[in-house]
Amino acid sequence: MQDNWAVETKAIQCGWEPKNGEPRVLPIYQSTTYKYDSAKEVAMLFDLEAAGHMYSRISNPTCEALENKIAALEGGVGALVTSSGQNALTVAIMNICSSGDHFIAVGAIYGGTVSLFTNTLKKMGVEVTLVDASLSKEELKGYFKPNTKALFGETIANPALDILDFEKFSSLAKEMRVPFIVDNTFATPYLCRPLEHGADIVIHSATKYLDGHAISVGGVIVDGGKFDWSNGKFPEFTTPDKSYHGIVYTEKFGKLAYIVKARFQWIRDIGSYLSPMNAFLTNLGTETLHVRMDRHCENAKKLAEFLEKHPRVGWVNYPGLSSHKHFQRAKKYLKGESGVLTFGVKGGMAEGEKVMNALKLAAIVVHVADVRTGVLHPASMTHRQLSKEEQALAGVTPDLIRVTVGLENIDDIIKDFDQALRQI
Ligand SMILES: *Cc1c(COP(=O)(O)O)cnc(C)c1O
Repeated sequence: MQDNWAVETKAIQCGWEPKNGEPRVLPIYQSTTYKYDSAKEVAMLFDLEAAGHMYSRISNPTCEALENKIAALEGGVGALVTSSGQNALTVAIMNICSSGDHFIAVGAIYGGTVSLFTNTLKKMGVEVTLVDASLSKEELKGYFKPNTKALFGETIANPALDILDFEKFSSLAKEMRVPFIVDNTFATPYLCRPLEHGADIVIHSATKYLDGHAISVGGVIVDGGKFDWSNGKFPEFTTPDKSYHGIVYTEKFGKLAYIVKARFQWIRDIGSYLSPMNAFLTNLGTETLHVRMDRHCENAKKLAEFLEKHPRVGWVNYPGLSSHKHFQRAKKYLKGESGVLTFGVKGGMAEGEKVMNALKLAAIVVHVADVRTGVLHPASMTHRQLSKEEQALAGVTPDLIRVTVGLENIDDIIKDFDQALRQI
């Protein structure tokens, strides 16, 4: 599709490209199976000698349309949709790291990701070091070992709302010859395109703003296609894969080596592909991404400004406020600061809980990034399984309330928070 289209046009037009007489709108191909005229054609698919769908555990036309849309939005060479954001992260790392390998991740990231990295991947023999993102490049280099295979961070950290220093981290990854993987969930490709700032692989929890309506769990991996997998550190990419008759991914697939390997090794064997129905719903949401994101940003900024002036509020954290520690960095990398903010009520969590319970329009939900305003208390919910040290590194204080600012009228949202704050 047209590479020179703006992101708004791509959100609507890319992905599904109907031929003459075909449905204008992306259909739900609710089929596990695909029909071919000859046994030879199917054998060629199995050998990766021909492109085409063979089984919906590996690919599906509805899912493929969504993959092509997200790849176009991010400026990548290819994408893979998975059953959840957590699965996208798992596959993204395990496609690079084997037992005995190590990678480095920013510590201020989503609690579920910390848990996946520090517990579950560890069980598979892959070790992570969580680092303080404010360390200097030289200090960060000290954490690299000969078996370090990747560097990971979030564009806008959930829920710390730190903004990733793309310049520092991408140059570090380049120097250390490892791929730079960025979770772009909170920013979305409308507010930030990490591949343009030196990332090699982009991850999304499509469950959040891409869907945008809290109706479908899904994940995406986008391949930038620029990382050199044949630099000597990644033999799995450059030596024959015996599960595919000795295919060498870098030789056979070139720029697509990473994303093809993720699909045909990991997704084929683990079976965590997105369902066609969820791909359809996510695609529908993504068509209006740009319209929704502008309003999410506008509403969040207005609510942040209101809370910052409120006498009963102790502190507010939103990258669009000039008081935010990464205000300038947000201006540099983002088109807007997204729809999530955090704040603390004077008097700590006991008072904060009263405010949460008193909200009428804003519901208590374990979710972010949909059309409805909601609140959550990470220390007792999403980040509950983390140790106190991990919570501190993740930027989760006991009094922190996370607000996902929806698309309702901002005056109604503000009135709701005002009445709730008046009850303490
Ligand atoms: C929600 C979230 C995830 C996990 O995604 P799921 O779709 O819930 O599995 C990963 N990263 C970030 C930043 C998230 O907000």
